[in-house]
Amino acid sequence: MPRLLKRAALIFLLVAGLAALGTPGGAAPAMDGFQDARQLMVARQLQRRDITDPRVLVAMGAVPRHRFVPPALASQAYGDHPLPIGDGQTISQPYIVALMTQWAEVQPGNKVLEVGTGSGYQAAILAELTDQVYSIEIRPDLARQAAARLQELGYGRVQIRSGDGYLGWPDAAPFDAIVVTAAAPRIPPPLAAQLKEGGRLVIPVGSQDWGQTLVRLRKVKGNLVEEVSLPVRFVPLVRPPALQATPGMPPPPSDEPPPAPLAPKP
Ligand code: SAH
Repeated sequence: MPRLLKRAALIFLLVAGLAALGTPGGAAPAMDGFQDARQLMVARQLQRRDITDPRVLVAMGAVPRHRFVPPALASQAYGDHPLPIGDGQTISQPYIVALMTQWAEVQPGNKVLEVGTGSGYQAAILAELTDQVYSIEIRPDLARQAAARLQELGYGRVQIRSGDGYLGWPDAAPFDAIVVTAAAPRIPPPLAAQLKEGGRLVIPVGSQDWGQTLVRLRKVKGNLVEEVSLPVRFVPLVRPPALQATPGMPPPPSDEPPPAPLAPKP
């Protein structure tokens, strides 16, 4: 082999090796027919905006998003918008997933909690950045489907639980980062408590009526300090009805303000 060709082959192997290293989560997406759409998404929707963290860009270019949406919507998976995933829920727009991931500042080895597994897409992106990802989903069907999908795509290390993410995951706490993908009226105190010192909480706060703000809070000397924010629209964080009111039982302890009294009918 001519020396120049040999050197070119060596450089190719080196670059391929580095690319493989960049995706520790497992799933090498390789040639799935959507690699061009995915790279365009990264270039146009993420890099042209403010996604600058190279590890986040590599992760977004690696995870096969079309496998996380209903098959009939696969061709729209890399569009600049959210998509329905069934049960009235949505997978966020790629940019929002990337932004939340960038704000979470996930380092290799960090322990990360996601609240609202949905399709499992955000969990897969997080799993490209660290091998310790925990994700909770309140709808058992979605949790089951996401767990099976993640397993199939090589993200079997992601731990999925079906339950109320408002309460966090106490037996795995504390976390370096918590990413909440459903909007809460206010910061759930259990999540604040399960964050490490220096940890990041990325969460949409507000209601569908009053508007929502995506915020990144950092725990500094035990207090949450708001650092960045952006107006957004997410599905609401819901609480299990069984916890909200059990007939014949006193209402569960709550840190939410009581509902406003209804206006009298005219
Ligand atoms: N992160 C998801 C999209 C989330 S949509 C993805 O990448 O596909 C928001 C999800 O939060 C929905 O699946 C909804 O069922 C779930 N959810 C709502 N309230 C919840 C709660 N209290 N605990 C856990 N999950 C909740």
